[in-house]
Amino acid sequence: MDDQKSNCDESDSEPTRESVRACALCNCVERSLHGQRELRHFGSTSELPTLQPTASQLPQPGNDELSSIGFADTICLSSLFDDSGCWVHHWCAMWSEGVQQKDDDGLENVDKAVISGTQRLCAYCKRLGATIRCHAEGCSTFYHFPCAAASGSFQSMKQLALLCPQHIDKAEELGEESWCAVCDSAGELTDLLFCTGCGLHYHAACLEIGATPIQRAGWQCPECKVCQTCQPGEDSKMLVCDACDKGYHTFCLQPAMDSLPTDPWKCRRCRVCMECGIRGLVLPGSAQWFDNYAVCEACQRQRTTVCGVCGKAAHPSVALQCCTLC
Ligand SMILES: [Zn+2]
Ligand SMILES: [Zn+2]
Ligand SMILES: [Zn+2]
Ligand SMILES: [Zn+2]
Ligand SMILES: [Zn+2]
Ligand SMILES: [Zn+2]
Ligand SMILES: [Zn+2]
Ligand SMILES: [Zn+2]
Repeated sequence: MDDQKSNCDESDSEPTRESVRACALCNCVERSLHGQRELRHFGSTSELPTLQPTASQLPQPGNDELSSIGFADTICLSSLFDDSGCWVHHWCAMWSEGVQQKDDDGLENVDKAVISGTQRLCAYCKRLGATIRCHAEGCSTFYHFPCAAASGSFQSMKQLALLCPQHIDKAEELGEESWCAVCDSAGELTDLLFCTGCGLHYHAACLEIGATPIQRAGWQCPECKVCQTCQPGEDSKMLVCDACDKGYHTFCLQPAMDSLPTDPWKCRRCRVCMECGIRGLVLPGSAQWFDNYAVCEACQRQRTTVCGVCGKAAHPSVALQCCTLC
């Protein structure tokens, strides 16, 4: 497959870079954790501006880090289009300014949104590809779909309207749509989480969870939560990450877990060692973690050479709990 074939990359003789299909707006791949739904192909309705080959390279399809949504620099437009159009996530397209829904479920002007996105910075991540504009009159704040939620903006799924944190008060005018599904009131609007599955809102406090950017982006309410590995499937044995609130089946983990752990659990993506900074994603799934996934195995071994009780150095082979010196 060579969808990403680009006019920018003239040298056909070079080994072809393995092309991973990514969204022409948020630059994430299909299976992203930010709730954008599936990648859809949209044809070009108009002549593209002449695709001038430039020196800029193909953007690297992003990973799921919120800091690498979209595009860092001027993008060569032709790298975002194939011969007949472009690939964009369902929600990234639907929410874009200027995109119209046609009678047959198709969408119009997605290609134009992609072109305008190459010029627009996201107010949250400060990267290009932002096409979702604040609904408040005169506000020209734009976001990527994952960043819209991460920024704490209010989103109405019915009207596909976003209100940036500065204009979030206007959400009250939407009445019931801005009410929390638990307490039936708008309450603290900035505390509302938006479910990318059903569009309902929930106060983080009413669910006793946090409202960090990583929890907000791609958030799914308790009714809609599906496993991030296999997507829809049975809802038994679902583990919920303590840090990002995403769900995973115990049997979809590598290695699989036999039962639900009783302690708070963190997905690999959210494990970061506070001593050395190593991230869970680069370690095998079976790697051991300590202190609620805050210390990696190597750093823990370092730590255990000092006894936690007497502070004296013990022999490295002596476990933390039973220092022979005290
Ligand atoms: Zn996207
Ligand atoms: Zn962004
Ligand atoms: Zn605004
Ligand atoms: Zn509530
Ligand atoms: Zn939901
Ligand atoms: Zn699963
Ligand atoms: Zn997580
Ligand atoms: Zn470490």
